[in-house]
Amino acid sequence: MLNSALGPRVLLRKLRAVMAEPETAQKRLDKIVTLIAGNMVAEVCSIYVMRPGNILELYATEGLKLEAVHKSKLKVGEGLVGLIADQAIGLNLSNADKHPSFKYLPETGEELYSSFLGVPVMRGGAVIGVLVVQNKTQRHYSDEEEEALQTTAMVLAEVMASGELKEMARETAIDVAHVRSHHLRVEPLAEGIALGHVVLHEPRVRIQNMIAEDIPAEQKRLDEAVAQLRSQVDELLDGSDAMRATDYSDVLETIRMFAHDKGWLNRLTEAVVTGLTAEAAVERVQNDNRARMQRMQDPYLRERMHDLDDLSNRLLRILTGAIATASRTDLPQNSIVVSRNMGPAELLDYDRTKIRGVILEEGGKTSHVAIVARALGIPAIGLADGIVNLVDTGDAIIVDGGTGEIFVRPSSELQKSYAEKVRFYAKKQERFTALRDLPAQTKDGQTISLNINAGLTVDMPHLRESGADGVGLYRTELHFMMAQRFPRLSAQVKHYQSIIDQAEGKPVVFRTLDIGADKTLPYLRQPREENPALGWRSIRMAMDRPALLRLQARAMLIAGAGHDLKIMFPMIADVQEFLQAKQAVMMEYAILVKRGAPLPKNLKIGVMIEIPSLLWQLDYLFPVVDFASIGSNDLVQFLFASDRGNPKLAGRYDALSPAALGAMRQIVDKAKAHNKTVTLCGELGGRPLEAMGLVGVGLTSMSMVPSGVGPVKAMIRSLDQAKLWAFMQPLLASGIHSLRGDLLEFAQRNAVEI
Ligand code: PEP
Ligand code: MG
Repeated sequence: MLNSALGPRVLLRKLRAVMAEPETAQKRLDKIVTLIAGNMVAEVCSIYVMRPGNILELYATEGLKLEAVHKSKLKVGEGLVGLIADQAIGLNLSNADKHPSFKYLPETGEELYSSFLGVPVMRGGAVIGVLVVQNKTQRHYSDEEEEALQTTAMVLAEVMASGELKEMARETAIDVAHVRSHHLRVEPLAEGIALGHVVLHEPRVRIQNMIAEDIPAEQKRLDEAVAQLRSQVDELLDGSDAMRATDYSDVLETIRMFAHDKGWLNRLTEAVVTGLTAEAAVERVQNDNRARMQRMQDPYLRERMHDLDDLSNRLLRILTGAIATASRTDLPQNSIVVSRNMGPAELLDYDRTKIRGVILEEGGKTSHVAIVARALGIPAIGLADGIVNLVDTGDAIIVDGGTGEIFVRPSSELQKSYAEKVRFYAKKQERFTALRDLPAQTKDGQTISLNINAGLTVDMPHLRESGADGVGLYRTELHFMMAQRFPRLSAQVKHYQSIIDQAEGKPVVFRTLDIGADKTLPYLRQPREENPALGWRSIRMAMDRPALLRLQARAMLIAGAGHDLKIMFPMIADVQEFLQAKQAVMMEYAILVKRGAPLPKNLKIGVMIEIPSLLWQLDYLFPVVDFASIGSNDLVQFLFASDRGNPKLAGRYDALSPAALGAMRQIVDKAKAHNKTVTLCGELGGRPLEAMGLVGVGLTSMSMVPSGVGPVKAMIRSLDQAKLWAFMQPLLASGIHSLRGDLLEFAQRNAVEI
């Protein structure tokens, strides 16, 4: 049996010869199994191929009964072959029939064979088949044999994916799915349903030549590429930009460590010695790495394995000259972009007319790429761990941004039912469009002001499309986050002017910079903090760097000349902080007055209520502010001491609880008593059931994601506010966890559209 690199090397050479022969795909596979069996001194060698419906079909065999070919089928998870496909692991058994998963297929005659070695045939992290060798004697295959079979499986994957099987599908008159379907339910980031095809944000490198012709030459190519990789990483790490972005430099530091890791380099060299080309060796080692990654529980180690994956991709690109990112414009129609992570600017680079959805391995609800996806109206899903390795460019995929569901390579029935869902969704949208010019008035005559949240110029057309009353929250930091350097006064003025112009006379509430916690500027050094959400952020940073706030205030005042201008401050913790921030704005105002510069027609300065301490200062706060806006994302986070971005805490506490709704009611009552307006601009306002609860406690103004305006208006127009408040009052005075169930029942009983 095999005990050196010679075995696989000879086998690979012979495989190359078979692949070069002009043969039908079936004959080629028949020859391949014979070759492998011979080389590995196995009595049986079989290839199972993944077919539609997650079925593994015997496609070729040496040793089993030939009549079983194209007849023997196993579901994923069924039998040993199904187990290998399901878990993407190899199985090495000396007594195969004693294994709990063993399934006897009488047509194959495999009862004769005791020992069994099977490995998954993987492509881009997805299992596309299973390769098995079997022997009569009870024996344990050596590590070298297992390695050799895995290397062979990798070459086989290329044969299977290079159109060979499509050709065979015609012969067998069945459509080949190549790989199994998957269903994931993760974090919904942006509403909407999309059917399309995968575009990998970082395209996978396609390897043309797997088998080396000249092993020393391949070794040299590998060594040179590794040297180039090391200097590339060093350059990146020494680059001044990276040094400022601390998180990024941490990642690079880890990558540099891996680039010098002896174990990794040894494994690459070993793979070349077995007869693979340098790039095939990288992929071979990467496949092992990915398989290990999938089994890893520890999130920290998984993260490090991701870094190693990044490094392998860099090395592959050096070896093949492949480009690093997908073309942003030359995209297929109905593209669904899949990426590990992505910045908001990167998403904006894509041709919007062709992108139908976004799926990210990272990216929580409040990540900025999620905010941008929502602004663009692109359905998006986040926290889809492992998705990049599960898909390949061109795979059919469904994204349901409402439920957070992803269907990879869905069955045709599922595609049909989702196409129907898309049509239904479009109809619903049409219905909301029809509401556009109707008032947001409850059945008992209460008018609710509906506004949109925005943060980019691309958001502004939604103002007109949704029929909203204005922009209730303009997040100015997004403009700063996408810039390469701190925007100068003129750039800021131009930006705010364009927002005011696009609002066409409707009011816009500009929020001053809200940087910190998860919002970082690549060009601004921020100290590492234990609790960044509670740290040096937002208005606190502005108080310590008054020049930043003053510059921004000046830009807003200049841009707002001749208009009504509304400015508000985020993360205010007490009245004095508000007064201090207001003073900074007023100093700029005074300068403009002194210069005789044109001024805003009307200047209103407001506060965001998002830190609970303000709840006990409302009687002092309202007299000094012009208006208030409840930042419920943060207010709820701080009320419950529950990180808004932590998926483990998502859903644990409810904004529809007596505590949160009670706080809102208290704010509404105090605002009324002081004759000041109060709006709510957190994500809550855009969800009909939550918005119903808010209207219930008396809120008469909300600002939300633009796609929420239609559904929330439909809810309002079917609601009797007084009846709802009467229903809610006793519940708010109780100790229940949440009013959600009760509100849902109320809506159903009273035909409120939610
Ligand atoms: C909020 O906290 O509710 C809010 C609107 O601000 P942001 O989501 O930008 O923190
Ligand atoms: Mg906030």
